[in-house]
Amino acid sequence: MGIAEVSAKISTAAREDGRPLSDIHLIAVSKTYAADAIRSALNAGHRAFGENRVQEAAGKWPELRADYNDIDLHLIGPLQSNKARQAVELFNAIHTIDRPKIAEAIAAEMKSQSKALALFIQVNTGEEPQKAGIAPAETTGFVEKCRNELQLPIQGLMCIPPVDEEPGVHFALLGELARDAGLKQLSMGMSSDYDIAIQFGATHVRVGSAIFGARTKP
Ligand SMILES: *Cc1c(COP(=O)(O)O)cnc(C)c1O
Repeated sequence: MGIAEVSAKISTAAREDGRPLSDIHLIAVSKTYAADAIRSALNAGHRAFGENRVQEAAGKWPELRADYNDIDLHLIGPLQSNKARQAVELFNAIHTIDRPKIAEAIAAEMKSQSKALALFIQVNTGEEPQKAGIAPAETTGFVEKCRNELQLPIQGLMCIPPVDEEPGVHFALLGELARDAGLKQLSMGMSSDYDIAIQFGATHVRVGSAIFGARTKP
């Protein structure tokens, strides 16, 4: 496909669902892709990217940031608290806050670096044992804790639906949980289902292979 085709498909989905295009942000997921592929998206004017590993992002993005202005880099993979300092240095947004320890580490780093990031809480909508995320029933309480005890400006919720289930059910659940918690942003939808996610109110779609091609590395 490529970024122009994905953007066009997002425009169509937004129009069909009566949503302003400005409400929907395309995060080009560049994990495993080399800087050359990323540069072609940057040269086409795209600025929002996602990486799932702090270490990989540290190897690619400082150089790209030196060459292009206004890069908006999102961490969409699991975060260990010993990488919180580096994550807050490198990224503009973190989508994967999934436990108190990580929320505390990010709060401390944002304070010591005087840096504000856009923050999302990952919800394990399918309650899969192998998957990260807060359980749906605990989401509102966790959002409250982040807000009130840690003064973390949480903007929204994020999910990765189980591979073998209708994603719409999970997108609808994430939307309900966000409403309950008074949150407006929804990070959901990947290459295979971002148009469906937009129907269910996604504000941030995370699209990798439909833009950059099939990944050869995991
Ligand atoms: C890799 C990844 C994506 C993008 O996946 P594609 O299927 O390549 O679009 C989105 N979200 C997360 C959390 C990912 O790890």
